[in-house]
Amino acid sequence: MAEPAPRALCTDCGLSRTALAKACGQACQFLRPDYAALEQRVHGRARDPARPDEAHFGPFRRMLRATLTAPLEGAQWTGITTRLGERLLESGAVTAVLAMAADPEDRWKPRPVLVTRPEDMAACRGMKMGFAPLLALLEPAAAAGHRRIAVIGIPCQVHALRAIETELGLERLYVIGTPCSDNTTTEMFHRFLDLLDPDPASITYLEFRADFHVELRHADGRVRTIPFLQLPISKLPDDFFPLTCRTCVDYTNVLADITVGYMGGTGAQWLLVRNARGEELLGLIEPELAHSAPVSAGKRASAVKGFLANTERAAGGLPLRRMPDVLRPLVGWLMPRIGPRGLEFARARVEMKAVETVLFLRHKAPRRLRSMVPPHLWALVAPYGLAPRAEEQPPKRPPATTPGA
Ligand SMILES: Cc1cc2nc3c(=O)[nH]c(=O)nc-3n(C[C@H](O)[C@H](O)[C@H](O)COP(=O)(O)OP(=O)(O)OC[C@H]3O[C@@H](n4cnc5c(N)ncnc54)[C@H](O)[C@@H]3O)c2cc1C
Ligand code: SF4
Ligand code: SF4
Repeated sequence: MAEPAPRALCTDCGLSRTALAKACGQACQFLRPDYAALEQRVHGRARDPARPDEAHFGPFRRMLRATLTAPLEGAQWTGITTRLGERLLESGAVTAVLAMAADPEDRWKPRPVLVTRPEDMAACRGMKMGFAPLLALLEPAAAAGHRRIAVIGIPCQVHALRAIETELGLERLYVIGTPCSDNTTTEMFHRFLDLLDPDPASITYLEFRADFHVELRHADGRVRTIPFLQLPISKLPDDFFPLTCRTCVDYTNVLADITVGYMGGTGAQWLLVRNARGEELLGLIEPELAHSAPVSAGKRASAVKGFLANTERAAGGLPLRRMPDVLRPLVGWLMPRIGPRGLEFARARVEMKAVETVLFLRHKAPRRLRSMVPPHLWALVAPYGLAPRAEEQPPKRPPATTPGA
């Protein structure tokens, strides 16, 4: 595989390693993303103001709270993502799936793979932490004659993929997206594991759950949950999260055909079926799912305001304001009971991420704000008193239209 081209803000999605490297300027989420135009092209319509959740989550036809009735062992949740890849290959809808397996030397390190047999999807189960050049596999896939493919990716990979999609000459492309936030390099992630447990090598699973706890599973079968408030976040180095992941603008993978996450799922998985191809994907696994409508409870505003106050300090280089130790267990107990839950939790997380983007860009890369922050993100932070300054106003773009419409 070719080496990545040097780029300032870059998560090495793989594009710069291909013959389309020059397209980074138009394709990159960190330069001048045009979500309105891409959403129009991919989903055939803009976000609908009459469906307020589209302001937070992007266009979708329906949302589901879902689990596989026979969960896949080793999956991050119940394995809906893996199963979608398997079913696409089993049914012949595609001949290849691009996804992330784990590095053979390090279970946490992602390694892009081109999967052509359903049984090989199993190697991609579970969340890895870090970046790996998924889109660099588009060239070997084309060279091997694959014209109907699926890509499973995180938002910064999917944005670049959608931007170059029409140049790939594919017969069919299915895009399965997961939400993504707070990613970091695999090396940094190991430092976090070192702080969490005296035997970090025994940790086989980690997830930030929607009930405000981190779940850890160990090789010997032990399971531990830690309230967010008791995580050693203040002991992490200032550069633990790269600026890319502090400032990316698409938490819920709005350009995927289907998003498979957990944030709005209250303990189950959370599916956003975004377009007709997303419906087709869901149809492949629907008989294997137990599903219901997502629920929503609690109020997010005070949690987002508290996050904003703390993030302002962190972005300005000040230490995080820590809650007094005596209050932590009480608040840790209360949060899952009275804090935002279900869709309200997902809205809170999306707003927190939007706040973080604006504050960190203002401090660390103010000249990027104008081109990188889309109008819909400014709308999410407006209730918290953040508005674009004159020099931060997004450029006026012609209204997005669907080709041929
Ligand atoms: C860094 C990161 C942060 C995330 N943060 C959130 C979040 O805040 N909220 C939320 O709802 N969901 C988040 N997710 C998605 C979530 O963890 C689950 O992956 C998703 O819900 C699918 O679960 P599953 O059981 O269907 O996945 P599985 O069937 O276990 O499959 C996991 C899939 O994830 C892909 N994958 C794993 N690691 C990576 C990686 N590093 N880069 C690219 N692709 C990868 C693999 O290709 C695989 O297909 C995040 C995922 C990642 C990678
Ligand atoms: S498009 Fe991909 S490779 Fe190019 S700069 Fe952006 S993240 Fe890096
Ligand atoms: S947090 Fe954002 S920039 Fe970082 S890996 Fe995830 S989608 Fe990409």
